[in-house]
Amino acid sequence: MQSKTLRDILVLLTIGAALFAGGYFLVREISKSDYDLSYEVSMEQEEELGNLFKDLIWDKYPTVKENYADTALQQIAKRLVNALDSTQYRYQFTIIKSKEINAFTIPGGNIYVFSGLLELAETPEEVAAVLAHEIGHAEKRHVVTRLINEMSLSAVIAVLSGGDPSVLTQMLQSVISNRFSRENEDEADKFALQLLEDAHISPKSMAKFFQKLNDKNLDYNEDLEFMMTHPHSNKRIDRARKYKTRNNFSAEPFSIDWEKVQKSLNAE
Ligand SMILES: [Zn+2]
Repeated sequence: MQSKTLRDILVLLTIGAALFAGGYFLVREISKSDYDLSYEVSMEQEEELGNLFKDLIWDKYPTVKENYADTALQQIAKRLVNALDSTQYRYQFTIIKSKEINAFTIPGGNIYVFSGLLELAETPEEVAAVLAHEIGHAEKRHVVTRLINEMSLSAVIAVLSGGDPSVLTQMLQSVISNRFSRENEDEADKFALQLLEDAHISPKSMAKFFQKLNDKNLDYNEDLEFMMTHPHSNKRIDRARKYKTRNNFSAEPFSIDWEKVQKSLNAE
């Protein structure tokens, strides 16, 4: 009798252990596929993917190059990139001519800013806040992770090996217009605040620009990557406003004539 009970307990323990192990591996696999498979795409592949996107953007959107606004954008971006501890990306920043107020990041560290956003900004520091947020998405590999989650890893790999071009178009649409998860947005914001500080740009400029978007009540734009959604916006503004810079922090102004930037955009 006793040995039978002992056997039953052993059987139960074995079943329990098997269920636990099975559950553990299942959860691990699910969370891997749901959250982060970006390690399956190398930096070289990401750069290649970025080049395919760049060609498509070049075909589809008019860009603004070699005017004062572009020079200003490059100057702002350079200050931020130089303040990064290290990076695997060769960043490129491009203005797209469009009235929409948006900015987005494609794979490979290529960041695009719409002229509408530059027109809304009143200082180079506000633009820096937007760029720092987008750099955050790139550095944390949010773009590749999201593409894999939305389209599957095999779709991303297929595009890289010259698959169906319509999938690439679909991917670009998703990168421009869809929001990241709230966790990704928070992570990009936190990254941006730290980067702004390291680049000697007041992190308060982020609060200012977010507040401006809020005041404008740009709800028709709320699906665009850079736009915010209620009720997260107030929390994001608050975090930027309350961000504590180190004691010896001092902001270094840009030598950019913002009025000239606006004029050069209008002349396009
Ligand atoms: Zn974002």
